[in-house]
Amino acid sequence: MKSWSSPHLPHLPGTGGPVSLHDSASRSVRVTSPGPVARLYVCGITPYDATHMGHASTYLAFDLLVRAWRDAGHEVRYVQNVTDVDDPLLERAAATGEDWRDLAVRETDLFREDMTALSVVPPDVYLGAVETVPQAAAAVRELVGRGAAYRLEATGDVYFDVASDERFGGVGGYDDATMRQLFAERGGDPATPGKRSPLDPVLWRAAREGEPSWDGGDLGAGRPGWHIECVAIALEHLGAGFDVQGGGSDLVFPHHEMGASHAHVLTGTAPYAQVYAHGGMVALDGEKMSKSRGNLVLVSSLRRAGEDPSAVRLAVLAHHYRDDWSWTDDGLAGARERLARWREAVARPSGPDAQHVLDGVRRRLADDLDAPGALAVVDAWADAQLAQDPADAAGSAAGPALVADVVEGLLGVVLRTRA
Ligand code: ZN
Repeated sequence: MKSWSSPHLPHLPGTGGPVSLHDSASRSVRVTSPGPVARLYVCGITPYDATHMGHASTYLAFDLLVRAWRDAGHEVRYVQNVTDVDDPLLERAAATGEDWRDLAVRETDLFREDMTALSVVPPDVYLGAVETVPQAAAAVRELVGRGAAYRLEATGDVYFDVASDERFGGVGGYDDATMRQLFAERGGDPATPGKRSPLDPVLWRAAREGEPSWDGGDLGAGRPGWHIECVAIALEHLGAGFDVQGGGSDLVFPHHEMGASHAHVLTGTAPYAQVYAHGGMVALDGEKMSKSRGNLVLVSSLRRAGEDPSAVRLAVLAHHYRDDWSWTDDGLAGARERLARWREAVARPSGPDAQHVLDGVRRRLADDLDAPGALAVVDAWADAQLAQDPADAAGSAAGPALVADVVEGLLGVVLRTRA
């Protein structure tokens, strides 16, 4: 599947330091220590709805990580999937009478446009569930072969036996009652009769009348579950023990927990990922954003309304990626103001030295992607610059030029138009 085009990434002098990131599994901030190639997997969208600020906030967080790693001298190998066949997508298509494939193509196109507008560095490998069914089916057969999966006679569906991984539960660290509750709330099927544990997730859903299905070899016709989809893609393109598994905090359990367990059994090694990093949830004016409440703030709607994507980025980056926060008109207005001030400050022909801005932004981002801290560093420089009388401004042209490059290169916020 095609990805999207890369934003301009200005060259910055020197290199950034090692990047630390909060790991959900160890509940601590850890230094990511990739080799020459930093390997990242971020779970992609299920394309049945347009990208809302919750999605955007997750992808912007990991965009900061990609930029910081590159700045630290790593080659980055970034893999993302598109869950272009799954229950919510099929249900939406059935409800509106649209072909599920058309819905998936349309929403995936819109997502690419949103990501391009927001200057998100694209993944190197961008793969759909449909085009990776053979790999997922092979992984399921392997789990069956290892005795870690079983078939329910009533339906023919194949389930993963969570008891087959002694590390199961280690990603989220939740107790059994919490796992059961989250599993039920987030698409699991605890009540399906015949399962060994209520928490066992589906690996292969046998073909049903009116649903798309693929040849699964010994598994029969069907389609893969969501967790094994990501694992099959990640293991093929990154390998076990890759550096960071990312997503929103609603993916900690069951999605990343199940994925880790699938991978532990498949590879016989642990951990699946060195760090499990999760972004907070975004509400609207204090209420959870959801389709059913009709309060989604869509990136595409903001774009259509003529909003500057750099202002949208700044509105998101004003919050730490791990915090839960609320999208508000005031927040967006504040971001527009900040953007205007920064643009005015770098537009002046000369200004204060900015090496400390580069150092400061690098340091803030390397510390668990502290974007609000990074914005404060730039604010301080812009305040000093704008406090000077432009007529007798001190400094040189190098200061404003460096700030524009730092802000564009590390924060993805465009301050100057290029000729
Ligand atoms: Zn995933």
